[in-house]
Amino acid sequence: MPRRTKIVATLGPATDDPGTLEAVLRAGVDVARINFSHGSAEEHTDRIHRFREAARRVGKFAAVLADLPGPKLRVTITAPRDLRPGAEIYFSTTSDPIHPDDLTLTEPEVLVDVRPGHRMLLDDGRMQLDALATRGGRLAARVVVGGTLKPNKGLNLPDTPLSIPSITHRDREALAVAAKAGVDWVALSFVRGPEAAAEVRAALAEVGLMLPVIAKIERPEAVDRAAAIVQAFDGVMVARGDLGVEIPLERVPTVQKMLIAECRAAGKPVITATDMLDSMRENPRPTRAEASDVANAIFDGTDAVMLSGETAVGRYPVDAVACMHRIALETETHLQQTGTLFGADFARPEVGIDDPISLAACELGSEVGAAAIVVPTLTGRTAKLVIRHRPWVRVVGVAPTDGVLQGLTLVWGVIPVRMTPVGPGGDRMATAVRDAFVAGTVLPGERVIVLAGHPIEGGPRFPTIRVVRVGEGGTSAEA
Ligand code: ATP
Ligand code: MG
Ligand code: MG
Repeated sequence: MPRRTKIVATLGPATDDPGTLEAVLRAGVDVARINFSHGSAEEHTDRIHRFREAARRVGKFAAVLADLPGPKLRVTITAPRDLRPGAEIYFSTTSDPIHPDDLTLTEPEVLVDVRPGHRMLLDDGRMQLDALATRGGRLAARVVVGGTLKPNKGLNLPDTPLSIPSITHRDREALAVAAKAGVDWVALSFVRGPEAAAEVRAALAEVGLMLPVIAKIERPEAVDRAAAIVQAFDGVMVARGDLGVEIPLERVPTVQKMLIAECRAAGKPVITATDMLDSMRENPRPTRAEASDVANAIFDGTDAVMLSGETAVGRYPVDAVACMHRIALETETHLQQTGTLFGADFARPEVGIDDPISLAACELGSEVGAAAIVVPTLTGRTAKLVIRHRPWVRVVGVAPTDGVLQGLTLVWGVIPVRMTPVGPGGDRMATAVRDAFVAGTVLPGERVIVLAGHPIEGGPRFPTIRVVRVGEGGTSAEA
């Protein structure tokens, strides 16, 4: 059985060793994430090109996701700084320090929104300050929980409503680099509401891109507006690192389940991210709790699981991917063997024919013992609707364009296959079966279900289910 859950891995210095990109692809990476918060434009461009080459050598369909910093605040000091509990420290409200000892920020203008008593959390909440008052262009703060602050660490302001724009100048620079290098997905950090989708799409259009966009959920207001954000974006990332700082840590597991359920109902992919196998940065094996975390995200119904520092800067990038692959496969095998209809209780839309027909294709597939459901799809939508029902047969999404195929790389259980062009009036269903056969995803003699919204190329929308047997050469023979 092939693995259904998709694996996203962050590229970084640790994946730059010769042969490592091929090795992580062979170990199971479906999507490479480039975090534009770290590293230079040259590094990112170089990594994207080398990843594409490696995927070509391995012969695998793999996508690149550009992760934009968004209004993620970072401290722009150049050397580590000790913060002692009880000490009073200052932030400059300008990019250049007003006093040489001041801390400076990537977006110092946010400091005008900070009120006395607001918490200021540094380095994923490891250090805590309480804001005091602004004096002479400097914000004073008291160290509550101290530590050593290293350069480029994040600052979270969970109590402060932020008025800075959703897309910053750093995001626009990153998008220019992403456009040149060529990426397939864009993720935006610190989304606060659904409006950000239109903003990021406009910024993409400015650099000539039209790509699916992911909202990283890590702000309290985004949790409150999750349903609207899921509608507006093409997918969601449960960005647990910052989320666990911005909202009480104990709420993260239930918010994860809520976000996954929202995405599932909407038929949009969701990535569960951060700390999944974190101890593998240093160790060749993860903790039991980490193995359970990956499995439980799959039980929750996540489409994809993600590695961050484990692959970007860890000592065991290939082992981390291989380990994640094994956990996913074992979990899925268990779910299949026990017949667990996991997440079968997701909210199904009450109107329209797309949902009932996609369910009917799955039910028919299991009734007639089909080996696969082949879905010719112009936008990817039909394949996403089918997979919401989590059928255990193979689901092959056959699409004519790179964009749609890459869009399916994050979707649980969908195997993307390229569709050969079909002339006007041509049979898209038969073509899809042949393409699935040529790609090795269906075999001669197998009975398959074909589901198409548009069965005839250029024809009307006649949602159609067909049962065929794969003949020699990938023909659609009698079932
Ligand atoms: P985010 O909130 O977007 O996840 P992050 O700072 O947590 O940002 P990750 O992508 O989760 O970053 O990676 C975890 C750590 O790995 C980072 O804190 C950083 O130290 C390191 N890292 C990631 N990408 C790179 C890179 N390209 N170059 C150097 N270090 C990197
Ligand atoms: Mg992170
Ligand atoms: Mg984050």
